[in-house]
Amino acid sequence: MKYQFDFTDKVVLVTGASRGLGRAYACGFAGLGAKLVLSGRDEKMLEETAELVRQEGCEDYQIIPCDVLDTKAMDHLIEEIDRLYGRLDILVNNAGVGHKIPAVNVSPEEWQRVIGTNLDAPFYLSSRVAQRFMIPQNGGNIINIASMGGFSGIPGGAAYSASKAGLLNLTRSLAGEWAKNNVRVNCVCPHYTETDMVKPLMAYEQWMKLNTLRTPLGRLAQPEETVGAVLFLASDMASYITGDYIQVDGGSLGVAY
Ligand code: NAP
Repeated sequence: MKYQFDFTDKVVLVTGASRGLGRAYACGFAGLGAKLVLSGRDEKMLEETAELVRQEGCEDYQIIPCDVLDTKAMDHLIEEIDRLYGRLDILVNNAGVGHKIPAVNVSPEEWQRVIGTNLDAPFYLSSRVAQRFMIPQNGGNIINIASMGGFSGIPGGAAYSASKAGLLNLTRSLAGEWAKNNVRVNCVCPHYTETDMVKPLMAYEQWMKLNTLRTPLGRLAQPEETVGAVLFLASDMASYITGDYIQVDGGSLGVAY
């Protein structure tokens, strides 16, 4: 075993690679030998990620736009990966949406948008890439980006919190099913991280004060600070870890004030 992160010739798909955490994950893999598939809806932003990935030293990458609310689009994404690379080694289910809406005002469509993006899509993509690539290859790695919101309720974020709690248990179920196929499935659970998703909340002084007081490290995370957990779980250094999660939370779950 090499005691270092090395993804030479591994084909890695990152969903939601157009900005925020997904962009940081793509950049993390880029300098370590991976062949990258960058996916998301916004092609212009995916091009920007591609430029950053190039700067990290990755020359072998593809942009394949895909709306994860559309199963046909996900089927097309998988077909394209098969055509271009004929394999997939690592899937990072990162695409996600949040909301801050009182539960009484959440329409069925809004509930389904959040659950569909954050929970249905990781299930669909994982099951299809396992069937198409990872089980026949007898090897693969799936990292689901859950959230600290999967452990606690979020007033105004019922669908989000439910989707991430579901993602944690989906991870455990799939890990159990595919361990015999040498496919590991794990979660990374970030705490509040400075991305477009959280910017609207950051505008509230009261929210910022409360959040920094409740977080032992006293600040929000930067996207780059959650990359190490993803790389570790995706690497051979984590070869005995499956059905598990790493919380990247500034100490907030473990410490009460
Ligand atoms: P973000 O900046 O809002 O980015 C969200 C990403 O998801 C974008 O790349 C977006 O791509 C993609 N996406 C959303 N809906 C999609 C769809 N239907 N089809 C394809 N792609 C879609 O959010 P972020 O903070 O980076 O969040 C990334 C992940 O981390 C999410 O799963 C989120 O729940 C999780 N997370 C974030 C935090 C945080 O504090 N930021 C904390 C815990 C967990 P397009 O714009 O191209 O559609």
